[in-house]
Amino acid sequence: MFEKILIANRSEIAVRVIRACREMGIKSVAVYSDADRESRHIAMADQAVCIGPAPSKLSYLDQEAILTAAKNTGADAIHPGYGFLSENADFAQACAERGFTFIGPPPEASRKLGFKSAGKAVALAANVPVVPGTKDDITTDVTDEVAKIGYPVLIKASAGGGGKGMRIVRAPGELQAQLTAAANEAKAAFGDGSVFIEKLLERPRHVEIQIAADKHGNVVAFAERDCTVQRRHQKLVEESPSPAITPEIRREMQEAAIRLAKTSGYQNVGTVEFLFQDGKFYFIEVNARLQVEHPVTEAVAGVDLMELMIKIAAGDRLPFGQERAAEIRCHAIEHRINAEDPDNDFMPCPGKIASLELPGGPGVRVDTHVYEGYTIPSYYDSLIAKLIITAADRASTLRRSLRALGELKVRGIKTTAGMHALVVAHPVFQKGDFDTHFIEKTGLLDRKQGGDHARP
Ligand code: ADP
Repeated sequence: MFEKILIANRSEIAVRVIRACREMGIKSVAVYSDADRESRHIAMADQAVCIGPAPSKLSYLDQEAILTAAKNTGADAIHPGYGFLSENADFAQACAERGFTFIGPPPEASRKLGFKSAGKAVALAANVPVVPGTKDDITTDVTDEVAKIGYPVLIKASAGGGGKGMRIVRAPGELQAQLTAAANEAKAAFGDGSVFIEKLLERPRHVEIQIAADKHGNVVAFAERDCTVQRRHQKLVEESPSPAITPEIRREMQEAAIRLAKTSGYQNVGTVEFLFQDGKFYFIEVNARLQVEHPVTEAVAGVDLMELMIKIAAGDRLPFGQERAAEIRCHAIEHRINAEDPDNDFMPCPGKIASLELPGGPGVRVDTHVYEGYTIPSYYDSLIAKLIITAADRASTLRRSLRALGELKVRGIKTTAGMHALVVAHPVFQKGDFDTHFIEKTGLLDRKQGGDHARP
């Protein structure tokens, strides 16, 4: 096992890694930018190293600064968290070349799956259903191909992420102009202009399968997470099990995810994302890292995914088989609490947390790096806390969510907590029958519809 892990990240996920390290008897090294001097992960780690100024490019994305910090502190492994360098195959390779274990998939697997279009090719090879679309990055005239797929279609950036870089095309006349615009946008946002086209599913749910694969060829798949409640293609609420998935479909999705992992030589934890519509599921992409919403699966399966991921990286065999991984022990929901202003188009709302009361009691887990008096810097993601609520079944979980959201009191900044309460209380959400357009269709965030979302 490792003796010391450097965490190449910040915020709640850095705290999460440090907690796992402490429980496993591993020393932890935090890195931080000038803007994060007051962050909780620094105080919690055994050691902390400043790696540069506030902008991520000059700190959390500076590979050399991170590798130097690992060397100087005598770390033997690097945990990338999510975002930043977590899916950067070159960084994973650089870690290996410099003698550090990268706690994540091997660079070859990330390369095979990192691009959405490459991931789809692997899925096809593994006999996993994909959303119909153009095969690869578009370089030639695809007018006829798209006509066959059938409008409306979605242009996607191969290197895209975070719900960005997608464009809907409803008629052939718009295709060329939209392709050019999408490629330019992708180049500017992701440094890579390649795009491809997919059939637009009109009423999908987003359902994903957590997998874990050791270095000895064993792969398991957990029960699904349903991340259908989204705003602008970004997840807001995640729950497990999904109210829309039957045991048969669940098993099929798990088998598909395992086939895909085996075909790509995947190792470590990861997520296979699908869209689900009219009883059928379609692969969209692999996230080759531990995701924000991993605690939902930790609760439902009763496993510690962070510990598992570290053990896999150290060469351990999976400690359980598929039957154990697939167990559903309770219902769980995660609420992403962001420092954003719901009354001002969800603009990030950094600033000082004047006072903070966190919820507690049975079935309430809070993962956060913030505290009373902490000033949220303006440079990074607006996620400030995750509430993970568990109970025996969906109805009791929803009641507990409302109770916990009511207990959460953040003063000094605006947050999305009130919006979560509106989502949970909504009859359509309660019924469980909705798609990715839930927020727009219900007019939940439309003030004219009487949404009282400003008040937590
Ligand atoms: P990103 O990596 O940017 O998050 P994804 O490919 O994971 O992008 O898709 C994010 C979300 O966009 C999905 O959860 C879904 O809501 C929507 N989406 C993606 N592909 C399609 C599609 N073909 N049809 C309809 N919605 C889609």
